[in-house]
Amino acid sequence: MSTNLLTLKDAENMTNKQALDLFCEHINPSLGKMMNMLGFTSKRPIMAEGTSIYFDDGSEVLDFTAQFGIMNVGHNHPRILKARDEWAKRKELEIWKFFPSPYQAALAKNIASIFPDDLDVVFFCNSGAEANEGALKMASKVAGPERDIIVHTDISFHGKTHATLSVSGSESKQNKHFKPLPGCVSVPFGDAEALEMIFLENKPKLRKTRVSTFIVEAIRAEGVHTSPDGYLEKVRELCDKYSVTLILDEVFTGFGRTGKMFAFNHSGITPDIVSFSKTFGGGKATFGGYVARTKLFKKAYGSMDDATLHSTTYNGYGEEIVSAIEVINILHDEDLIKNSERQGKYLLSQLEKLKEKHSIIKEVKGVGLLACIRFENSAAKMAKYVPGSTSNILVSKLTTGGIISQLFEQYNILTYTPPHDFDLLFLTPPLTITQTQIDTLIESLDSVLKINITKTSQKFVKRYLEK
Ligand code: PLP
Repeated sequence: MSTNLLTLKDAENMTNKQALDLFCEHINPSLGKMMNMLGFTSKRPIMAEGTSIYFDDGSEVLDFTAQFGIMNVGHNHPRILKARDEWAKRKELEIWKFFPSPYQAALAKNIASIFPDDLDVVFFCNSGAEANEGALKMASKVAGPERDIIVHTDISFHGKTHATLSVSGSESKQNKHFKPLPGCVSVPFGDAEALEMIFLENKPKLRKTRVSTFIVEAIRAEGVHTSPDGYLEKVRELCDKYSVTLILDEVFTGFGRTGKMFAFNHSGITPDIVSFSKTFGGGKATFGGYVARTKLFKKAYGSMDDATLHSTTYNGYGEEIVSAIEVINILHDEDLIKNSERQGKYLLSQLEKLKEKHSIIKEVKGVGLLACIRFENSAAKMAKYVPGSTSNILVSKLTTGGIISQLFEQYNILTYTPPHDFDLLFLTPPLTITQTQIDTLIESLDSVLKINITKTSQKFVKRYLEK
């Protein structure tokens, strides 16, 4: 075994350049290059609190990403830190595999109480993909092996495990190397008639449709796609009529992101299973889960023989659980869902004003603090600035890449573009964001958009061409 092992101290003392080199060598060189192109490697984050990340050059950066929507309650919330600290000090049993954990029980009870009707039985796991995987599996178990079709929407992302990728329309358009599992059928998002057609096309005479499951996001997070009025209600009606399990993926939209506790709360329906993750661990734990209707759970896993048909080693360890209990209580005690709704409306109104001023903005959208700006697709115009490049993906990133790097390097604002739509600037700040901080973003964006876009992207291209 090598004696050159790095210690925690070594990691703490590493320079930014050393960290980037090791990241590129041992983790992901292309991702490392992208971070560099966006200017994110020019300084090192040393602390994060609330809506801000503090860097080693003394700068304070406003986080308008919430780290891909994880930090709804803000970075390092003091209540979560305290709960974890006290938990560790008590040296409680971390893993309750053989005893009923009162902490898990309390968390599950809280989840049951924030969901309507009989959405009362909870499964804990580590990630969004795992939550969806478990939900899909439960729906298949309920329907039986003959009903082997899962319907999903054309714009969707549910994770990157084999099953969840197979039902992720947005991802499979990009990921041509991947062969989806059989029986996964796509319908247009927001089109209830197309959904019923699929149910009927796969319905042998006098028997149930072969479709077991419909999985969908109530609001498609990337791009803030909302469905026509009454869509979810119609979907609920169809799923009831054809005995299809309705799974709503709230991994991104859950826990107040859209100005309601869950995005489906904008409608009046009760889904059969809801998956969640991201904010659930409070930004301190990798945590996810699903909640299912009691009758569905009983049908799938209710008997002693089936009790452990679905399980995982890592589900609901002590520090994850105490973090999640605090997250739900903080959202409630600090009235963060109301703030998401209020500040979301303000953000959208300011983005609309910005759109009037800048023709490069094609569209702005927002529901709560899930917002985005669509820029004019300037890929064709920009291609000539990337000599010898055959990479369409890179060229399509130039507009947003240039804007993101300018916002970060000149104005200390962190933003991002979603992985499946590079013409978008995605804005998903912590739900603790204030009006003044939104004003800072708008003023900065206004300044960046005044500069000619080819100039904004120059640095981005230059870094791409560097070895
Ligand atoms: N579902 C949605 C809507 C998501 O946005 C994501 C991740 O961004 C996932 C599922 C997958 O979650 P994870 O990356 O934790 O597996």
